[in-house]
Amino acid sequence: MTVTATRTYPATRAYRTRVARISPLSEHFVRFTLADEDLQFFGTGGLDQRIKLMIPRADGTMPDVGLFEEPAPPMMEWYQRWRSLPEDERNPMRTYTVRAVRPAEREIDVDFVLHGTEGPASAWASAARVGDELVVIGPDERSETGGRGRSGGIEWNPGEATTLLLAGDETAAPAICSILETLDERYSGHVYVEVPTARDVLPVATRASVQVHWLPRDGRVQGEVLTEALRAWGRDHGAAVAGSGTVRADVGTEADSEADADAPLWEVPAEGPHGRWYAWLAGEAGAITSIRRHLVKDLGIDRKCVSFMGYWKQGRAEGS
Ligand SMILES: Cc1cc2nc3c(=O)[nH]c(=O)nc-3n(C[C@H](O)[C@H](O)[C@H](O)COP(=O)(O)OP(=O)(O)OC[C@H]3O[C@@H](n4cnc5c(N)ncnc54)[C@H](O)[C@@H]3O)c2cc1C
Repeated sequence: MTVTATRTYPATRAYRTRVARISPLSEHFVRFTLADEDLQFFGTGGLDQRIKLMIPRADGTMPDVGLFEEPAPPMMEWYQRWRSLPEDERNPMRTYTVRAVRPAEREIDVDFVLHGTEGPASAWASAARVGDELVVIGPDERSETGGRGRSGGIEWNPGEATTLLLAGDETAAPAICSILETLDERYSGHVYVEVPTARDVLPVATRASVQVHWLPRDGRVQGEVLTEALRAWGRDHGAAVAGSGTVRADVGTEADSEADADAPLWEVPAEGPHGRWYAWLAGEAGAITSIRRHLVKDLGIDRKCVSFMGYWKQGRAEGS
């Protein structure tokens, strides 16, 4: 009997991309179009699909952690090698969202927020030129999951819910725009996006009946404008959400205290909500925690209806 081995692919793999185009979108957003022949295999799950970017070291080099071995190694293998490198040899790795995927053109888009040159990712984006290399860790369409769902880096999971609340800051804007583009006419609700200035409001298309509120920060404290808007949302809509059966009995029992500053600020209900209402919150960890606390503790909304993700933390480099 002849047994034919079927090749299996990990959910994510490394792509050795080159910058094909750099398109400034606004004062603080810049779109990088990355190209590589292998992007024909990039997963097309979209939504809030996260990717990892391997930022070159200061001298422009990258350590060899076996990312491009054949067959592609599972993430845990190369990640352990990367983690065990001495700090001065390890290159920075940062998390971003894939804003668009065009397998036929072998291209993806990534929208960077320019927040200065202190962070290596923002510094890279500020200085990068067409032709520069950027290694992207992203979903593989040929894997068992097709790079979809949580194993492929997608957290968006509204289940049967069609009434939505999306809220985030500029780092979540690429994910929010990508999610909005996929929603059909069944969905309604509110979307709040805090951006640095009015010049950072981005065009976004959706078939859903959602009201999109862009909230320019204009020099105010990070997260303040978003938090105020969500409190106003609570006054106008909190009771209706409570009336939809998403109120939980155990208000205040979970560990969402800011006192535990090192707790992972990421909680996504494994199954998605059972009701008709769903919230997706992402952005600066402190602001998102306080908004989540307001929904869950003050308004009494079931935390199983709320996905919340600290995308970055004020004063802390990613992974530090
Ligand atoms: C799932 C996920 C998806 C994301 N998608 C995107 C995306 O599509 N586009 C995008 O731009 N970002 C995105 N982010 C956020 C991004 O990963 C962080 O902003 C990251 O810290 C940037 O890395 P850095 O090297 O520039 O800064 P770091 O070295 O991580 O941080 C250096 C300093 O800059 C501060 N800092 C970090 N980000 C910001 C910011 N945006 N504004 C002001 N100060 C900041 C930190 O607090 C720290 O003090 C995403 C994060 C996650 C977890």
